[in-house]
Amino acid sequence: VFEIEPTPAGMLYYGVPAYRLPRDLIAAEVKLIEAMGVEIRCSTEVGKDISFDTLTKDFAAIVIAVGAKRSRELKMEGVLGPGVLGGVDFLRDVALGSPPALGKRVVVIGGGNVAYDVARTSLRQSYFDTARSAARLRDVAQVHLACLESREEMPADDVEVHEGDEEGIARHHRLGPNRILRNDDGKVIGVELKRVLQVFDEAGRFSPIFDDDDRVVLEADTVILAVGQTADLRFVPAEAGVEINERGIMRLDASTLATTNPKVFAAGDVAHGPRLMIDAIASGKKAARSVFHFLTGAQLEITATQMHVPIEGYLREKDYEKRPRAAIPAASVEERLKDPDALVEKGYGATEAQCEAGRCFDCGVNTIFDGAKCVLCGGCVDVCPTLCLKLVPADSLASFEGFAELAEA
Ligand SMILES: Cc1cc2nc3c(=O)[nH]c(=O)nc-3n(C[C@H](O)[C@H](O)[C@H](O)COP(=O)(O)OP(=O)(O)OC[C@H]3O[C@@H](n4cnc5c(N)ncnc54)[C@H](O)[C@@H]3O)c2cc1C
Ligand code: SF4
Repeated sequence: VFEIEPTPAGMLYYGVPAYRLPRDLIAAEVKLIEAMGVEIRCSTEVGKDISFDTLTKDFAAIVIAVGAKRSRELKMEGVLGPGVLGGVDFLRDVALGSPPALGKRVVVIGGGNVAYDVARTSLRQSYFDTARSAARLRDVAQVHLACLESREEMPADDVEVHEGDEEGIARHHRLGPNRILRNDDGKVIGVELKRVLQVFDEAGRFSPIFDDDDRVVLEADTVILAVGQTADLRFVPAEAGVEINERGIMRLDASTLATTNPKVFAAGDVAHGPRLMIDAIASGKKAARSVFHFLTGAQLEITATQMHVPIEGYLREKDYEKRPRAAIPAASVEERLKDPDALVEKGYGATEAQCEAGRCFDCGVNTIFDGAKCVLCGGCVDVCPTLCLKLVPADSLASFEGFAELAEA
């Protein structure tokens, strides 16, 4: 794996804030992947430190999985220059430990989950900076979030909006950015927005209409644009035989994820556009099966195994299917803002977890753990009800009597 950044894991590390995804969890997952024999070469940019051409010569097959890490730009007056940042660029700087100075008033443009990650991270940065300088005042940082959509239309998850409201992020709906306002020194002083009359047309297509006569100004020291991400495929030369259209999207065979160059495949956000990590994992597996087929000619089939385990005297609680989902307990706002990395979700306690598990519909579709096919994914460790399984590096067991024969077996 060739990776530009100094740490692997892509957007999970450089996008998803640490208050939602602890870094030690990511490190443990990466360690497992490395333990399977994957070599990860960090701080290596394909197209600069190593050319795509060299990769095609040195490797039998290539999977392009570069994600969508460029913040989408907005063309408007005043947007170029200091004080206007891209959403994922800002999150990356925070993850790298070098957050930019934001000032006290931040306006985030966007209404999705990434906009919330940006808004909540900037709130933590400003609050933490102030906390360090001893003035622990609630209203030190003003973070505003402005989006085209109404509350009902906005794509952000309810939990993000709810927790953002709790933390004091001011929402402004049905407003679209028109121009960035700067003073004579070029410093950002605000953003002018136009009222939105319509976001989607009757067919549900994105088709915003603005009221030119209804404008609002939000004062700001920094404006952060979180209006989407795009892939950067400039490292793929035209002569590589990988067809890329004028919108920067590769032509792919949907069933194999092969590009127009038979030894080059694609996976993740760059293949299907920004989605969830589970989609990226699924497409990574799909591309891996295609690479296996390309290299060996053999097909990896997915098979379903049937196994029935009768449990004597097993009864469900009455009305278990009518119980509503319980919200995951969250830290108080004060606890959250004490440290920018403080985890927001606290997880269920034992009783709540049992109660939630008791809502299971028993569809019967379960993973069957077969040690003979182990790929070290750690799934069995996660679900073992008696916590008797642990995955450890083989060399940490070397001193145990009989280990050598066991390893041999
Ligand atoms: C702010 C944010 C929050 C998110 N939150 C969630 C969430 O809560 N839950 C969820 O399921 N999903 C979330 N997602 C989506 C999820 O992170 C992505 O879908 C997933 O990470 C995509 O995986 P990927 O491997 O395709 O790309 P990425 O994770 O983007 O990884 C691509 C990697 O390629 C590297 N790279 C790029 N170009 C080059 C090059 N030329 N040479 C070498 N390396 C290169 C990049 O540095 C990066 O590490 C979030 C995304 C963002 C941006
Ligand atoms: S036994 Fe199965 S679930 Fe457990 S680590 Fe191996 S592959 Fe994963």
